[in-house]
Amino acid sequence: MTSYARSDDRRSKLHALRAAAVRRATSLGSTFDGIVEASNDVATDDEHDPEGHTIAWERQQVAALLDETRVRLAAIEGAERRLLDGTYGRCTDCGAEISAQRLDALPATPTCVACAG
Ligand SMILES: [Zn+2]
Repeated sequence: MTSYARSDDRRSKLHALRAAAVRRATSLGSTFDGIVEASNDVATDDEHDPEGHTIAWERQQVAALLDETRVRLAAIEGAERRLLDGTYGRCTDCGAEISAQRLDALPATPTCVACAG
């Protein structure tokens, strides 16, 4: 396999990961909006209303997942940029080559095992 084919492989993998992350962010975003809308219909006194409390908790959970997905998306986009400028596969911290096994498992990772630890 040529290195060009290899890089194509990385690109399509990252592309698929990005598409999945975008779908997840969109779905979490509409879930979040739904919760916010629902909470407008009930009392928002979190301290004393058990239902309001549950909604606040749900909203926090979804917001946390959404944040996580956005961070992931940013990491994938960073990896795609590195593919384009030819620095993909090199640790952004120490410049060492990241092992192929690690890139297979974590295609968007910016760092080698040593720097990630
Ligand atoms: Zn490193």
